[in-house]
Amino acid sequence: MIPRSRLLSLALVLLAACACGRVSAPLVGISCSQSGTRSDALSRNYSEAILRAGGTPVIIPTLTTEAEAERVLARLDGIVFSGGEDVNPGWYGEEPLNETVEVNASRDRSDSLLARAALRSGKPVLAICRGEQLMNVILGGSLWQDIPTQLPDAHVHRGVSHRIGMTGEGFLTRIYGPDSLEVNSRHHQAVKDPAPGIRVTARSDDGLVEAWETPQVWAVQFHPEAMLQDDARWLALFEAYLDRLR
Ligand code: MN
Repeated sequence: MIPRSRLLSLALVLLAACACGRVSAPLVGISCSQSGTRSDALSRNYSEAILRAGGTPVIIPTLTTEAEAERVLARLDGIVFSGGEDVNPGWYGEEPLNETVEVNASRDRSDSLLARAALRSGKPVLAICRGEQLMNVILGGSLWQDIPTQLPDAHVHRGVSHRIGMTGEGFLTRIYGPDSLEVNSRHHQAVKDPAPGIRVTARSDDGLVEAWETPQVWAVQFHPEAMLQDDARWLALFEAYLDRLR
């Protein structure tokens, strides 16, 4: 007869083996920006948010080919598209409106390769600020290129926090409930025409899109990873995203 203590340790070994089969700390790639011509750069806020939520972050370097993007995506459980420069207006059929539009060609190329690979993979995407605008454009939408010029009656969205109201049931209402939320705002562009298939789930009270989603993509115009520095409530957003990867 097997002693009880042996049975117990056997059960523990089996449990551990089962746990290993699941993704307990999902591998999350984060798109980066650049610092100078030969260096990649990313605010530490993104990696910290994924770490605090229990994930395993990896910063994705600037890529130049579709094969590279496919290779990276194949290893990831999910991908975060980070904030940064403006998306090339040519992608939605416009010329740059004025000198406030700042485009980074190598980042645009890398991000578009990654975005297309991510969409093909079906893996859950969290898109933040530029990432939110990028995914809208890749899916066929367009952007306001410069809010103060094109929408003079809109709030200041560059540097001043504001409230957002929920316009439909979505990931934000599931996490935070139906009430409005105070969010930071560091953008001079915003979604103009939402891409086909996108569901807009939050707007600022001047009507700008502040969150949208598809079954695959969660997108926010604000920066939850920055708010998390001072407000632990925003951890729930990253935890809910990681739950989708397990
Ligand atoms: Mn805003």
